[in-house]
Amino acid sequence: MSDETPICSAKGCRAAAVWVLAWNNPKIHTPERRKTWLACEEHREHLSAFLGVRGFLKDVVPLSEWEAREGA
Ligand SMILES: [Zn+2]
Repeated sequence: MSDETPICSAKGCRAAAVWVLAWNNPKIHTPERRKTWLACEEHREHLSAFLGVRGFLKDVVPLSEWEAREGA
């Protein structure tokens, strides 16, 4: 784990990430595989919509909760 603050994945955004968007592209990923994007409060909806319309979005979780899960 690094001490660096996770940054939002939206293009050009340098805001601290608050959300983790877990997604999967069934054409290139196995079903259990999870790719993640990070999102700030402002870009959560935008990024979720981007993944949602493609049917890729699996989960949207607060970053703190995601890290707790990963650590478990
Ligand atoms: Zn952002």
